[in-house]
Amino acid sequence: MGEALPPTRAAGLARLAEFVPRAAAYGERRNFDEGPDGPCHVSRLSPYLRTRLIAEDEVTAAVLRVHEAATVRSFLNEVGWRTYFRGWLVRRPAVWRSYRGALAAAEAALKAGPVAERHARAIAGQSGFACLDAWCDELRRTGYLHNHARMWFASLWIYGLGLPWVLGADFFQRHLVDGDAASNTLSWRWVAGLHTPGKRYLATAANIERFTRGRLRADFPPLNAALGPPAEPLGEALPLTEPEPPDRSRRTALLLTADDLGGLDRGPLKAAYAALDAANRVPVALVALSGATRPLGTLGSTAREFLDGAAADAGARLGAAGIDATIAVDPPADALADFAREHGVTQFLCAESVPGAAADWLATAGAAWPDGRVAGLRSPWDHALWPHASRGFFAFAPALAAAGEALSRATAP
Ligand SMILES: Cc1cc2nc3c(=O)[nH]c(=O)nc-3n(C[C@H](O)[C@H](O)[C@H](O)COP(=O)(O)OP(=O)(O)OC[C@H]3O[C@@H](n4cnc5c(N)ncnc54)[C@H](O)[C@@H]3O)c2cc1C
Repeated sequence: MGEALPPTRAAGLARLAEFVPRAAAYGERRNFDEGPDGPCHVSRLSPYLRTRLIAEDEVTAAVLRVHEAATVRSFLNEVGWRTYFRGWLVRRPAVWRSYRGALAAAEAALKAGPVAERHARAIAGQSGFACLDAWCDELRRTGYLHNHARMWFASLWIYGLGLPWVLGADFFQRHLVDGDAASNTLSWRWVAGLHTPGKRYLATAANIERFTRGRLRADFPPLNAALGPPAEPLGEALPLTEPEPPDRSRRTALLLTADDLGGLDRGPLKAAYAALDAANRVPVALVALSGATRPLGTLGSTAREFLDGAAADAGARLGAAGIDATIAVDPPADALADFAREHGVTQFLCAESVPGAAADWLATAGAAWPDGRVAGLRSPWDHALWPHASRGFFAFAPALAAAGEALSRATAP
């Protein structure tokens, strides 16, 4: 990324304000990737949205305050893809578990042999595909790739190098500054032909040359669809269950995860915290960052810097509201129970996590604290849209448009 993205809510809001006037031109230009130092036709709001320093409904409302919906539909749909993927994964948690299992198996098999060698060369930027090697370098240096570059990268990884898609998804997850369990895993599955069964994404040299304006050398022969993974059944979407509501009679602290570092500045936490009996509001917060370190590798330095900075920003904003925040990087399973005991609380309020590192940690931390309670709060935006995220995006799009209109009416000056 050519410019630095400060990891604060204030910087996210400033970036949004800078982007809003450009939102109408987005649809026409968004597919061009002019490189980290070239003109940027997209918003680059993703690290802020991924950590929910700012949220999809805030972005949608800000854009609709200035533009007619029809002129910015393309941008609003892309923001909606994030809501859709999260809602889709909530309804199919087995897809996340199966990704974790397949990743563990692929990592264990990487000890030696041709796949291990191809994988090592690919992540070192020496795959032999000049454009893939350039994106590998860009990703490691900047923590960011344009959406089109992510699609081409994943396609070359799977259908050019014949590498397991889960290893590519993991490489992205560790290096992207916006690395997100739902958007990343499901996008890789989409390229691999697993999200929309039978529809694989095969990059072509001509498409890459056109949309990078000839900046990158792409002179490879047609990719080989047969290198993709075998089809697998999607399974039925589970019914959407409501998260546990807060119990107002319990002494309560705040819990923030990397899935929502908005704190009390926005979102459902703000409203739920205000609704608690004052005597039960214990002014402490645990900010738990799971998934920062892991067995095979750790987060890349740019991704880690953003996450640490965003957590520090959340801590500072909570501090300004009189709440003492403790930041824990990759906390152990008993960290929640220990923190609760130390501060005499029996309940945490937390924005709801979708399947991913934070939810995995919460599940083990909750099991280690059987008497305690974590009330996960769903945002009104997710509440309105997730019921429509059980099938494809095109079935979801009308609900997205209606939610945007409702939001626009509700936030009109
Ligand atoms: C293989 C692959 C992996 C990806 N991994 C991630 C990831 O880990 N985290 C992530 O946030 N996005 C991911 N994306 C989606 C998309 O590439 C990025 O959200 C986008 O490039 C971020 O740049 P931007 O903020 O300028 O997006 P813009 O084009 O300006 O879009 C605005 C916002 O909409 C959302 N968005 C846009 N496109 C998509 C999309 N296709 N799917 C889901 N949300 C979208 C993002 O929150 C983004 O910030 C992935 C896409 C692919 C093909």
